[in-house]
Amino acid sequence: MKELNKIKESKINMKVCKKLINNFVNPLGETEEIRCTKLQGHKYVCGYRPDYSVFGDDKKYVAGKINNMAYSTAGSTASNSPILNRGSRFNPPRVISKEEEILLKEQKQFRKGVRKDEVSTFKLCHEVEQILYDTALSIYNGDGCQCPLCGNEITWEQFVSKEITNGLSIQGCHLDPLEEGFVRHYPGNVMWGHRDCNQIQGDRDLVELIDYVNNMVEHLKKVNHDERRVNEPSYTW
Ligand SMILES: [Zn+2]
Ligand SMILES: [Zn+2]
Repeated sequence: MKELNKIKESKINMKVCKKLINNFVNPLGETEEIRCTKLQGHKYVCGYRPDYSVFGDDKKYVAGKINNMAYSTAGSTASNSPILNRGSRFNPPRVISKEEEILLKEQKQFRKGVRKDEVSTFKLCHEVEQILYDTALSIYNGDGCQCPLCGNEITWEQFVSKEITNGLSIQGCHLDPLEEGFVRHYPGNVMWGHRDCNQIQGDRDLVELIDYVNNMVEHLKKVNHDERRVNEPSYTW
């Protein structure tokens, strides 16, 4: 007990470096600072990201995956889109609404900024990173983490699957979907889930998703008994 208390106390007494790394104005017009989150007297350069070495051989993959999900927008890979393929959510070169995107495209202005519905603040992105990190660690350690959409347990094999066509590979999902005029990228709304489940949700909010899936289930029960399929050819090959 005494030893445990000592460890707890020494953790509380450890001071954080807090050195200023960068400051900027976020898309909402607030000035934000990025400060070092390492312990005072740390080795090497200042930084604000958690320790990814806990993921062993997968540390680079996990650090990259979480960096993309927490801090970068999804984007367009098309060279004739005004939208960048991966830009900063909290410090983008420009924020572009759906309306502006059409105008810019007509003016042939390409790769200028990020979509308005994707932006957030550094503080929120940093908190999203922490949650994604904690839940990834929980999957890594076998402590469990459920897909918020299908409720099935996410495995580490699924989490590190690099096959982009694998429907059970893992993506960050926004439970309330991204929508212009709202900041939907915040901790609590971003969770790890299956690619298939995320794609079925699409732009739907959860109420719309329930209706959609319910209708589909009711319909599928009928289709499953559709007699037209008695005509299936008998080839096996
Ligand atoms: Zn530092
Ligand atoms: Zn799922």
